[in-house]
Amino acid sequence: MNIKVLDTTLRDGEQTPGVSLTPNEKLRIATKLEEIGIDYIEAGSAITSPGERESIKGIMQQGFNSEILSFSRPLSIDIDYCLECDVDGVNLVVPTSDLHIHDKLKTTREDLIELSNNAIDYCKDHGLTVELSAEDASRSDFDFLKSVYQDAIEHGADRICVCDTIGVLTPDSSFELFNKLKDIDVPIAVHCHNDFGLAVANTLAALKGGATEFHSTINGIGERAGNTSFEECVLSIDRLLQDFSTGINIHKIYDISKLVARLTGVYIQPNKAIVGENAFAHESGIHSDGIIKNSATYEPMTPELVGRKRKFVIGKHMGTHGLESRLNEIGLTVNKDQLQQIFNDIKDLADKGKTVTDVDLQVIADNVLEINHEDRIKLGELTVVSGNTVMPTASVKITFDDEEILNASVGLGPVDAAINAVKTVDAFSDVELIEYHVDAIAGGTDAFIDVIIKLQKGDKVVSARGTEPDIINASVKAFISGINRILQD
Ligand code: MN
Repeated sequence: MNIKVLDTTLRDGEQTPGVSLTPNEKLRIATKLEEIGIDYIEAGSAITSPGERESIKGIMQQGFNSEILSFSRPLSIDIDYCLECDVDGVNLVVPTSDLHIHDKLKTTREDLIELSNNAIDYCKDHGLTVELSAEDASRSDFDFLKSVYQDAIEHGADRICVCDTIGVLTPDSSFELFNKLKDIDVPIAVHCHNDFGLAVANTLAALKGGATEFHSTINGIGERAGNTSFEECVLSIDRLLQDFSTGINIHKIYDISKLVARLTGVYIQPNKAIVGENAFAHESGIHSDGIIKNSATYEPMTPELVGRKRKFVIGKHMGTHGLESRLNEIGLTVNKDQLQQIFNDIKDLADKGKTVTDVDLQVIADNVLEINHEDRIKLGELTVVSGNTVMPTASVKITFDDEEILNASVGLGPVDAAINAVKTVDAFSDVELIEYHVDAIAGGTDAFIDVIIKLQKGDKVVSARGTEPDIINASVKAFISGINRILQD
């Protein structure tokens, strides 16, 4: 059974508290959605604002294969704005629970049905595809819900959708609800929310019950605890449900996940399935050893399947096999004694409660192997001026391949100004700071500051640390040691 996917990242996803996308950002996401094979893109809600309409029109003009929809209430004012955007169709959202009908809309079931039917007539008269979404369907009286759907189909609705608006279904009740709607003769979609962490499970149960389309967002972003997570749902269908498939290009999943995280500023938790930082990372010795012998021992799918790479993490729980393959990755070959010595030194560091960064690993390995890497960048002087009246300003003197460079920059804060001043050197202006983490060791204001950063250049990611009594020095030191590492090979 082929399952259709409606992506609502640009509508329900954008309703994530604090998220607002520009027309250009929406277009970039929509382009990736088209590339990955999404069937229906809900591009926004046309009535929201002139900027929103500009976004939707911009997406429409691309001539995508995906059907482009706008969210719409069953009101002609909403539908007129959708028509102005020239969309293919509407996601017509009609609340069906008594709670929503009485307390939110202050109307009656009879009036609601009339509103819904008139709206569908109006849409169909103007050539729009209609997906009729019953809002709060999971808390609606079943017979009434079914009559809304039946009326909608008589008036020409092309598809219907069951919305679990506040995420209260369970896999059992989801299956039952969809099973009871089986005799409906247009495609049925499922729209779940993740308030109890069950959105993906409920969506899969709905498919088993008879739904043939699901709504989801990239990374599961959305109101409150979010919507059904696209990547989890697609991979579960692909790997775990035998009789179902989607037309999604799975290899591009990580790519689109990263883009949406970056543009929305909603970063992904490390332990998130499929796309989280740790989803294909291994630290434990037993696991790493198994993975090296046969990756199926501790991975239910290969990282390459979703466009990722496996990662062995250096730390307290690692074993010598994992360490050796990590050392090989950074271009070092070691004998048995050297491996054991590096292994012991890292365990010592980890036992002190420290995160072992790539630079730590390099320094420890260099010491054991007695390699002297000449750092290409050295910090000479650093001066930072910050206060409450002027913009923080930093000037640095650094030596890069024996050339002395003087640079100055401003920033939002003193650390930002200092890093900006270092970054202005052309040779590493393409190095991006992707993570910045500060810890005070001990506790008082005289504590040592431990800064751990992650830098990215192309697809190469390197972590580094700086520990100093001064937060700015610690940050710059971490940054420079990271750049030295990233420029090494
Ligand atoms: Mn929703």
